[in-house]
Amino acid sequence: MAGVKLENVLMKYGGLVALNHISFECPEGEFLTLLGPSGAGKTTTLELIAGIKQQLEGHIYIGDRRVDDLPPHERDVAMAFENYALYPHFSVFENIAFTLRSPRRKEKLSEEQIRERVDEITTLLGINELLDRRPQHLSGGQKQRVSLARAMIRRPDVYLLDEPIAHLDAKLKVTARSTLKQLAAKLGTTIIYVTHNYREALGLSDRVLVLRKGNIEQIGDPRELYHHPATDFVARLIGDPPINLVDGNVMRENGQVFFQAGQDFRFPIASDQVEQMEKFLWQEDGQDMVRLGVRPQNVNLSNAKISEAAFQLPVYVMVREAESAMIAFELSQTFFQVQMNTAEHYHDGDMVWAEIDQNHLFFFPKTVELKK
Ligand code: ATP
Repeated sequence: MAGVKLENVLMKYGGLVALNHISFECPEGEFLTLLGPSGAGKTTTLELIAGIKQQLEGHIYIGDRRVDDLPPHERDVAMAFENYALYPHFSVFENIAFTLRSPRRKEKLSEEQIRERVDEITTLLGINELLDRRPQHLSGGQKQRVSLARAMIRRPDVYLLDEPIAHLDAKLKVTARSTLKQLAAKLGTTIIYVTHNYREALGLSDRVLVLRKGNIEQIGDPRELYHHPATDFVARLIGDPPINLVDGNVMRENGQVFFQAGQDFRFPIASDQVEQMEKFLWQEDGQDMVRLGVRPQNVNLSNAKISEAAFQLPVYVMVREAESAMIAFELSQTFFQVQMNTAEHYHDGDMVWAEIDQNHLFFFPKTVELKK
């Protein structure tokens, strides 16, 4: 077993900077997830650790070995990809057993030991009945599990898993996630996992590293990312429905500080929030501005003015879902969404009182574009 460390790693494809001098450390036995949108550099990070690609600058360590100049097979990592390159002429059993038979392996196993290992992993992944089939007779989800089994059957120092369950249907995904979690706990091996699904990242990982255009935006445990997102980008990535981001003016009147966006969206900022807010102010047309973050779950709606901090807005649209409803209000740059239970019903255009739970208010530097 070993941890992984990247030190000031730069990777470019032609003129495009895919990883911009990134450094992070994944201690031995940690389940670290790389989370980010398409093109953030997640796969590239795994490929550099695996040795499939070579960084232009910086160093990579696996355990206490600097592996910059080692070919993939000497790095002792196992990688499972989203697109499962299975051998078409081999059965599922042979595809999985293959890695255990490699002449490069230090540990020589008997046929019986190989069968036991294959049985163990395929039972865990629920593909034990497919062992005699060829890959062309498998569904996408089944192929993906075979590919995962093939990576997991080895006992390397580090697993690198690139969206290994992206192709499974929703139900299988839930089981595969818990299987992965069990496996990770059982093996205690370092796992670096790639996904663009925040639920998967939060559910599986000890820590999550958020990548954005080749830069590390934040690294922390799941609770930290949800409750203390470092930027508007992280806040937006984590949470469904996504957090509301609202830019507005900060005004001081009679010793109180108000936030105002457009005509109606106006409320006094609680005095214990003001200091935090002031760290993020910027100036526009001689006015103090700030970006506010409010999760859709942290707003109370009502027909009456429930507090002095409540403000009235016209409903743009209400959408009912199975167990909750979403109400959208229209602001100049964006929509403001509120999630509520389905007991109330509002019509488009109704005037509704909104009160923001200021214990769950965020202020951010302005780094993402607001779009309707
Ligand atoms: P996805 O979730 O879509 O897989 P990712 O976060 O894994 O994205 P990478 O695949 O690492 O992102 O790509 C990072 C950037 O490098 C992207 O802009 C991508 O277009 C570019 N890139 C990746 N591989 C190559 C390549 N072989 N040649 C040129 N550009 C590449």
